[in-house]
Amino acid sequence: MTVIWTTEAVVVRVVRYGERDAILTLLTETGLVTAMARGAARPTGRLSAAAQLCVQGTYVLYQGRGMGDVRQAEVTRQRRALHEDVVKAAYAAYLCDLAARAVPERPDAPPAAYRQFVAVLDGLEADHVPVDVLARAFELKVCAWLGVGPDWRVCIRCGVPLAETREAPRYDPFEGGLICADCASATGSAAVRGWPLPRKISAVLHLLAQADIAKLHRVDLSGAMRDALSRILAHQLQEFAGVGGRARQVLDEIVASLPHPPAEDGRDLDT
Ligand SMILES: [Zn+2]
Repeated sequence: MTVIWTTEAVVVRVVRYGERDAILTLLTETGLVTAMARGAARPTGRLSAAAQLCVQGTYVLYQGRGMGDVRQAEVTRQRRALHEDVVKAAYAAYLCDLAARAVPERPDAPPAAYRQFVAVLDGLEADHVPVDVLARAFELKVCAWLGVGPDWRVCIRCGVPLAETREAPRYDPFEGGLICADCASATGSAAVRGWPLPRKISAVLHLLAQADIAKLHRVDLSGAMRDALSRILAHQLQEFAGVGGRARQVLDEIVASLPHPPAEDGRDLDT
């Protein structure tokens, strides 16, 4: 059976195919789809503008047996800012890779996947929220979609609400979740006691996991909090969902190699 269909989509992967063509992975509202964009690898190709990472548009796909073909495409968002700034480009490439690995093929995507991914790219362009915080918010969505997002508000061992405990929680890298100080000290080895964390991390993880990324505005977090979020989520995704590892390492190396902007240290949440 052959069908022609039209979909809104964002390009999350581009693989050159021969001299002229490119194979695109498109994130649509219902999930990922792969399609050949003929001539797109040539700068003058009719589809070349629509075959760039992060570009958003309306794609007309011709689907026969096997891989579909992009027949036409109308770009609605070129997202130039994401290609011109080194840090944004690195984050955008990482997030596209994460989406391409973590979102299921159509029609099985979680309902929010497309909208949250578009929101994270919009956020990278807009500059209202630090790029690493946006990435962490999207990583938390991915954790939930892949079934490795625990309830960050409670100790995963004893279930106590972490907002009610006096001491800061820890992260258990073997079980993949936060544990209260009592559970941490009840175990013998330092490894099992988990990673020390900032006091309010439970509330921050829960807030970012629940947040609509499009509605995140002022997010004021300390450097220590942002480091802890980064470390936890890199581990959580790689260890328990098997995604992100290499791409996340590349991102971290690029960001670490750049001169650091003046520190803008926030106060974490006043919750
Ligand atoms: Zn506990």
